[in-house]
Amino acid sequence: MRNWAKRVFLTFDIDWAGNEVLADTLSILNEYNVSATFFVTHDTPLLDLMRKDDAIELGIHPNFNNLLFGGDTVKKSMGEITCHLKEMVPEAVSVRSHSLTQNTRLLDHFVEIGMTHEVNLLIPKNSGIEVKPFRSWNGLIRTPFVWEDDVHAFCFSNGTEKDWSVERFLDAHGLKIFNFHPVHVFLNTETLKRYEICREFFNNPVQMLKQRNSDAVTGTRNFLLRLIQQGKDRGMEFGKIGEIQCP
Ligand SMILES: [Zn+2]
Repeated sequence: MRNWAKRVFLTFDIDWAGNEVLADTLSILNEYNVSATFFVTHDTPLLDLMRKDDAIELGIHPNFNNLLFGGDTVKKSMGEITCHLKEMVPEAVSVRSHSLTQNTRLLDHFVEIGMTHEVNLLIPKNSGIEVKPFRSWNGLIRTPFVWEDDVHAFCFSNGTEKDWSVERFLDAHGLKIFNFHPVHVFLNTETLKRYEICREFFNNPVQMLKQRNSDAVTGTRNFLLRLIQQGKDRGMEFGKIGEIQCP
């Protein structure tokens, strides 16, 4: 699987989304019957449902932020944080850190706990770099990704991204991994302001739905739907991170 032109990889950082919000993203993938990788942050009955679906890969999404920035919770070591997630998702071979935290000792630790793939490097389209997977010193396959919903919303807010079209991303040569968050799919987030307004409703999907961006062109949900529809129209395959091979 080294011809990247015809492949798309959808990934989702669950980021403690409520069940209704996560189920909403799952229903889109199910409707279009496309594969995807989910990076898990917490236990939910939906994990078993996802596990039974061959189209879905479960990876882990450890949050090291309290170790770096302090926080009101009891401090845990990097190993305690990842072990907790590995107990929840023992089959996981793929990892993306919350806030994309990376560090050489962390990469070695990921290998020690059985990870084969790591997805923490964002290499944006405007870099002009043709993205490929590569192996680090410890054998870990690093698979950079090219797009993230909240980063695009940030750039759309400040004017450095002009639109939410998918064509230039699908046209790109090289590895095409996209990173979504179920909450931004649910809200059809187009600016981070929308996400901030909804912070107080995050446990209330009815209230959140009222705040959904109803524009038919902009936003994360529209981007995901068009990516799937146009990818399928172009005969592209949707893959899972753990399947990516590299020399
Ligand atoms: Zn995250």
